[in-house]
Amino acid sequence: MNLVLFGPPGAGKGTQAQSVCQNYGLGHLATGNLFRTHISNETPLGLRVKSILDSGELVPDSIVLDMVKEEIQKDDFKNGVVFDGFPRTVAQAEGLEEVLLNMGLTIDAFIMLDVPEEMLVQRLLSRGEGRSDDTEEKITHRLEVYRKETSPVKGYYEANGHVYSILGTGSIDEVYSRIQSVLDSLRK
Ligand code: ADP
Repeated sequence: MNLVLFGPPGAGKGTQAQSVCQNYGLGHLATGNLFRTHISNETPLGLRVKSILDSGELVPDSIVLDMVKEEIQKDDFKNGVVFDGFPRTVAQAEGLEEVLLNMGLTIDAFIMLDVPEEMLVQRLLSRGEGRSDDTEEKITHRLEVYRKETSPVKGYYEANGHVYSILGTGSIDEVYSRIQSVLDSLRK
C-alpha cells in the first residue's frame, strides 16, 4: 500500500504518518525530515537547501525528485510507503507517478488532513521543536506557499480518484482512528 498524507504545515502529517507506518508496516518517506538530516550532517545537498528551508520556500522540484528516487529504492520501502510532505507541487506529483510507474506501483490513497488555519498557526508556534522556520512570520509565509503551490496537488489526485478528506482536529488518537477507518476500508 502506498499513501500520500497531505495537508498544510501543522496539520499533523508527521505524527500520523509515524503511527500509520508502525501499524501497517510501511516506510515513512518525509522529505522535510530528509532535508533536515542533510542540513545537520552538512552534506552537499544540505548546504544547498539550508537557506531555502530557512526561508519557508520550496526546494526546486528536480532536487526533491532526485532525492525521492534514490530514497525509495531502500529496503525500508519494499512493503509500501507513506509520503509525508511530498508531493508538494503538481510537477512533483507527475514526477512521482512516473517513478512509481517504472517500479510497477501506484498511489492507493491520498489522505487530506483538514485543519482550520488559526489552529495551524497555534500548533506550529507551540510545537517547540526549535525549528528555524517555526516563527510567526515564516509560518505565515509557509501557509501562503501551501495555498499557492501545494494545495493544487489535491486536484491532481482527485482527477484519478482515491482522495479521502479527514478532519484533523481533536486528539492524536481521534485523528488516527479516522485514518484507520479509511485504510481498513481500502484493504477489504
Ligand atoms: P511542514 O509541513 O511543517 O512545513 P516539512 O518538514 O514537510 O514541514 O517541510 C519543511 C520545509 O522543507 C519546507 O518549508 C520546504 O522548504 C522543504 N520541503 C520539504 N518537502 C518538500 C517538497 N516536497 N518540495 C519542496 N520543498 C520541500
